[in-house]
Amino acid sequence: MSNHLSDRIKNMSTSATLAMAAKARELRNEGKDIIGLSLGEPDFNIPDFIKDAAKQAIDENYSSYTPVDGYADLKAAISNKFKRDNNLDYGLNQIVVSTGAKQSLFNVAMVILNPGDEVILPAPYWVSYSDIVKLAEGVPVEVKTEIETDFKMTPAQLEAAITPKTRMIWFSSPCNPSGSVYSEEELKGLAEVLKKHPDIYVVSDEIYEHINFAGGHVSIAGIDGMYDRTVTVNGVSKAFAMTGWRIGYIGAPEWIAKGCTKLQGQVTSGANAIAQRAVITALEAPVSKIQFMIDKFHERRDLVLGLLGEIEGFNLNVPEGAFYVFPDISAFFGKTLNGVTINNASDFSLYLLEYANVATVTGEAFGNPNCIRISYAASEKELKEAISRIKAVL
Ligand code: PMP
Ligand code: GLU
Repeated sequence: MSNHLSDRIKNMSTSATLAMAAKARELRNEGKDIIGLSLGEPDFNIPDFIKDAAKQAIDENYSSYTPVDGYADLKAAISNKFKRDNNLDYGLNQIVVSTGAKQSLFNVAMVILNPGDEVILPAPYWVSYSDIVKLAEGVPVEVKTEIETDFKMTPAQLEAAITPKTRMIWFSSPCNPSGSVYSEEELKGLAEVLKKHPDIYVVSDEIYEHINFAGGHVSIAGIDGMYDRTVTVNGVSKAFAMTGWRIGYIGAPEWIAKGCTKLQGQVTSGANAIAQRAVITALEAPVSKIQFMIDKFHERRDLVLGLLGEIEGFNLNVPEGAFYVFPDISAFFGKTLNGVTINNASDFSLYLLEYANVATVTGEAFGNPNCIRISYAASEKELKEAISRIKAVL
């Protein structure tokens, strides 16, 4: 059979996080004792009060297509959440519910970008950003940031990256993969640059907003002059451990929200009905209901930093949020370990998989080839065991 795979798909990279998770699963099925620290997915169960809401929704026969942009009462709950947590006023006509924040991001790229438009991605960035931008025929423009500045883009770096073709900036805070959190001052600095460029939009991915050990989360949409040019992306995968339920959402200027609704009307017809009903309950609950998860992530962050800090060759910053560490391991490049020569972060990550049976993700996939990403969304027992194995094989 001849293969007529489109150029679009041929040229696309496979999601490195999902590919590593699949590889770890495969090795586990072969009987290997793999510790998976590759996938960014909370290891907690969904809180019972959310599960109960889903069960109730099934019994109440929420089985039809939903409005394409989401149930009105879910959008009202999202609007209240934006006000309560972020002090942002988004009306129902500015909110679109999608099949995960991943789809929300894809929608926005498709709605705003024309072929050749540039999107600035402070690197390291979340793995899917660059391929989503490319699928929408945009051009990702990476802005390298350094571990010394906590992997944050400075106003000067932003200014230098802007060209007449720049249409958007995408970033996450707390950041996947670096765990960095932009302060209000830092966001104001970026906003100041953008004032001079009124046709550039910002995608602010805030899916880790609650997993923040540094203090208050700041939304860039709330900074002077930014509201009308920011898309605030969020979802329930991380805060409520609901990754498989696939609900994400945006708050955005109305024209962007309308474009996203038009697009998903042709692509998905809207997100899953039962999950949408359950998310109303999740978002209406006070943040205190999920504080136990945040506290656990904080403890684990400290544990992992302490243990990895004992390994010579690991250069670490202190991540203030999310549930990843992103050590620079370039000190190992050029070394041969157990007969394996480590030339780059991918070699290093594969070496850890094969010799320590620990799955991590290469930093190359996040736009930083000197680092690897380790997710600490795993039990303390697994984390201790994984790091002790890593230490042993290095
Ligand atoms: N943005 C970031 C920064 C993420 O880490 C993830 C993780 N999956 C997503 C978006 C997508 O989340 P969702 O599960 O809602 O699609
Ligand atoms: N966001 C998670 C991660 O970065 C989930 C995997 C994915 O959606 O790519 O690992």
